[in-house]
Amino acid sequence: MSDTKPVTEIKARRTGEFIHPDKDHFLSEENPFEAMMSRFDIAAKLLSLDAGLYQVLRHPEKQIIVSLPIAMDSGDVEVFTGYRVLYSTVRGPGKGGIRFDLGVTLDEVRALAAWMTWKCAVVNIPFGGAKGGVICDPLTMSMGELERLTRRYTSSIIEILGPDSDVPAPDVNTNERVMAWIMDTYSMHKRHTVTAVVTGKPIEMGGSAGRREATGRGVMLVTREALKHLGQPLRGAKVVVQGFGNVGSITAELLQEQGAKILAVSDVSGGVYNDKGLDIADVIQWREAHRYVSGYPKGQALTNEELLVLPTDVLVPAALENVITARNAKDIQAKVIIEGANGPTAAGADEVLEKKGIFIVPDILANAGGVTVSYFEWVQDRDGWFWTEELVNSRLEEIMVKSFDNVLAVSKRYKVNMRIAAYTLAIERVASVHRLRGMYA
Ligand code: NAD
Repeated sequence: MSDTKPVTEIKARRTGEFIHPDKDHFLSEENPFEAMMSRFDIAAKLLSLDAGLYQVLRHPEKQIIVSLPIAMDSGDVEVFTGYRVLYSTVRGPGKGGIRFDLGVTLDEVRALAAWMTWKCAVVNIPFGGAKGGVICDPLTMSMGELERLTRRYTSSIIEILGPDSDVPAPDVNTNERVMAWIMDTYSMHKRHTVTAVVTGKPIEMGGSAGRREATGRGVMLVTREALKHLGQPLRGAKVVVQGFGNVGSITAELLQEQGAKILAVSDVSGGVYNDKGLDIADVIQWREAHRYVSGYPKGQALTNEELLVLPTDVLVPAALENVITARNAKDIQAKVIIEGANGPTAAGADEVLEKKGIFIVPDILANAGGVTVSYFEWVQDRDGWFWTEELVNSRLEEIMVKSFDNVLAVSKRYKVNMRIAAYTLAIERVASVHRLRGMYA
């Protein structure tokens, strides 16, 4: 059993004083990433992290706030606010997406940047963690306005961007198109083309084969490894997937390819269930024609709440954060949960799920396939030598399987669940580089 009590005090090595962890002054209780930091504390305690390093790892390295005046199509000028946070670059350049959303706050960007730091360390790729965002409503903006906003944001943070310092990627409401504008703006300033400044680009301009499918492929691989560990074959295993976007639909498709039976899938519109198994390619076709999963005729309709508590071998939450909470955790019937989404399980649900004996592969391991192939994209851009999709997939498999094994080994060593083990492994890796590099003063 893991020690799920939050750390209350960490002893400073030299002074013997007790330091009270700053209960994330930058994260409110409602913020899903408060949950992440409370798990960070448990892992820090397990590692007996010394007080100085504990403080270092809880503070972002650099935070930038920029004002972005944009000429709108109407002729008016509007000023948008943008952020970029480099949480840690101790293991390599900052890595993390840029989101365009009305809900963006500096607190959120900072927390997401921390999350990226642990994720890159779990899969042991040579990146730190970063994140960026602009407060805007892209759905109401024209392509021209979005392009001007992207280019102005890029030029405003250009000092910290670069293949050796900070490498953005797509996130909520940003895509290949936006990455192409960032790459072009950066390259215009540098006076030569620099493809490695962003990942998630179109393949024609330095993107990687297999990047679009990478997160779902990683989720499929860790599902296979988790079931193998529990002595159950993937072939014939029953699977339920919440979220039918990039991660959810590709996960469902690849798991079906491996012989799993996909009982139910859902999206924001609701879900569909068929106890004989859904034909995922057919559901994807339906979604392409009708925009949403709901209304799919070859199954029964069900709500997202009903889907989460279906009897199944595997549940893959691949939509939003905080869908498994203290409220519904007791009703979850899955034997295994594979977190395709970031933060789908609230910290309050951990203890209930653990008591029920549910094996959880946490987000910072389960959905790390995306950033792993982003790393491959960066390597290929710097080399100017591009890999086949087969090579990308086989290298991704190697990293995901090894990372699963490493987290499992830590979980056995410290007798903790896979989530705490993943945080422990990540913090140990980041802390060890800090110790080797020493403090520059
Ligand atoms: P997406 O926008 O492609 O898909 C999101 C899906 O969730 C859609 O099907 C949407 O309808 C569904 N959804 C939205 N609200 C919902 C609700 N209330 N109930 C049920 N379903 C709902 O996004 P994505 O890229 O697939 O990302 C999904 C999750 O995975 C996010 O948490 C994201 O941060 C995480 N993630 C994505 C990647 C990646 O490479 N795309 C990598 C790591 C983590």
